[in-house]
Amino acid sequence: MGLIVQNIEGKKVTVIGGARSGLAVARLLKKMGADVFISDMKKPEEIKYVKFTPEELNSAGIKYEFGEHSEKVYDCDFMVISPGVPSNAPVVQKAMELGIKVWSEIEVASWFCKAPIIAVTGTNGKTTTTSLIGHIFKTAGFKTIVAGNIGAPFSDFVLDADEGSIVVLEVSSFQLDHIENFKPKVAVLLNITPDHLDRYDSFGDYILSKFRIFKNQKEDDFAVYNYDDEIVQPYVESLNVIKLPFSVRDKLSCGGFIEDGYITLNFKNKKERILKMNNLRIRGIHNVYNSLAAALAARAMEVKDEIIRESLQSFEGVEHRLEFVREINGVKFINDSKATNVNSLWYALESFDEPIILIAGGRDKGNDYSKVYDLVKRKVKLIIAIGESKNKIYNEFKNLTNVIEVDSMEEAVKKAYENSAPGDVVLLSPACASFDMFRDYEHRGEVFKKLVNEL
Ligand code: ADP
Repeated sequence: MGLIVQNIEGKKVTVIGGARSGLAVARLLKKMGADVFISDMKKPEEIKYVKFTPEELNSAGIKYEFGEHSEKVYDCDFMVISPGVPSNAPVVQKAMELGIKVWSEIEVASWFCKAPIIAVTGTNGKTTTTSLIGHIFKTAGFKTIVAGNIGAPFSDFVLDADEGSIVVLEVSSFQLDHIENFKPKVAVLLNITPDHLDRYDSFGDYILSKFRIFKNQKEDDFAVYNYDDEIVQPYVESLNVIKLPFSVRDKLSCGGFIEDGYITLNFKNKKERILKMNNLRIRGIHNVYNSLAAALAARAMEVKDEIIRESLQSFEGVEHRLEFVREINGVKFINDSKATNVNSLWYALESFDEPIILIAGGRDKGNDYSKVYDLVKRKVKLIIAIGESKNKIYNEFKNLTNVIEVDSMEEAVKKAYENSAPGDVVLLSPACASFDMFRDYEHRGEVFKKLVNEL
């Protein structure tokens, strides 16, 4: 347990953000004896995933205000911000100016964690890799807690973990911005590409946030990292930790790589072929990376190769990530609603050899599409553009392939089907956020799947 925890009793804590993670950390701190006050700019009815009523907060003994951040928020010993609250929010800035410590939800939860933590971050692949690592440890018979950004706040589950458990956490850069003692036994950094530039002043700041996953690691902790990523590799190599790189390009003297088509681990001078790459159920080269990372994380904690093999082979992937929906008249429909940036779109396009009808568009976070020009030209026979950014998409791609703009997902699915031929893939991989038309990417994926299933 972290140091700060010994004197939590009676401490005054303000929690900024009353959605899922904020509530979870408030409940945890209250249970540990703190005097907790939640403040959220939104009204309860406007908060996503809200699962409480004021009466429930009252009976839990948690104080609250909704619809504003009053001056009361600064009357505290420390502040906890939930991951939805940006570091540059005025309330956070002011607290820091006043000298108040501001911590993230995972930082606080980690003070109470008895089990070793495997933390996974990166721009893309976090949920898939976190789930896969969880699957491996469950298969190995560990009491396994899979939490974090994956939709299950760490604070809700941390007290369930004992010394023999394993905690697998999906961690976002926002959570890492406000850690102090958070120290994973195994830190996994999958990749870094531009994203969330709406919440960071520069790409450099975003990169530094991701690197913070290693901040408190010592020489007997493990860093699992992408050797092929030009930003990640040089940084991790400068750290004083046990390094476990993975690569699909190079054979490594220590780490994970591909040899003769096999996922291969070379660790402590023992080289082991785990599984043929083509026997993975999850598709695409990005999932080879995710599988290598997960296998290394498991190997670091001494999971046996047979268990890793069996788990990689049986893992079916996560909903809304290149999820196979249905095949009609030889046309496959794939739901990749989680692809909310250009990099994810790149990997999705890369994953198919069939002609692609692509449904893309939504809320644009400053997308630069030039990286996918070549793939679009080679593989995409039609783009159906939706959402706020449909016109941008039309202009970006009109000289490379056929593009049409439509007004709804319903129309998009209908047009996709009408224009398809046997052997095609209809791929929803929007490269944009969903909030212009949907509650979230899950909702977008559900709507797509429902429409496809009604065809
Ligand atoms: P995250 O939790 O980081 O958003 P997910 O596992 O949910 O990642 O995958 C999101 C999307 O990113 C997927 O739809 C897929 O297209 C893409 N993706 C998954 N893994 C990787 C990877 N290792 N590198 C690049 N893109 C990936």
